[in-house]
Amino acid sequence: MDKKECIGKKLEDILETPILISTDKKTRIYGLKNKGRDIEISAYSRSESREDYFHKVEIEYLPASKYIINGSCTCESFRYYGMPCKHMLTVRNVYIKNQQKLING
Ligand SMILES: [Zn+2]
Repeated sequence: MDKKECIGKKLEDILETPILISTDKKTRIYGLKNKGRDIEISAYSRSESREDYFHKVEIEYLPASKYIINGSCTCESFRYYGMPCKHMLTVRNVYIKNQQKLING
């Protein structure tokens, strides 16, 4: 992860097409990859302090336990504490809520 990419991105600068946008529009999932028992999810999650910016969130999620086993986020909280931040948890929750839709297309 590039440490300089820390303030997030404006929506118009995100060029990929989302595969899912949450109902509150704050979370946008761009990619899913199955890796054995884990799923890698890449997403953008809206900043609460700067509402026109989105943080890039990558998580490795273990469906069997609902644990986030690895991941990163461009927000200050994650960079400072190195612990799963609210964006990572939100991305996981949006994934869980829409799991059927994402798997069945
Ligand atoms: Zn974050």
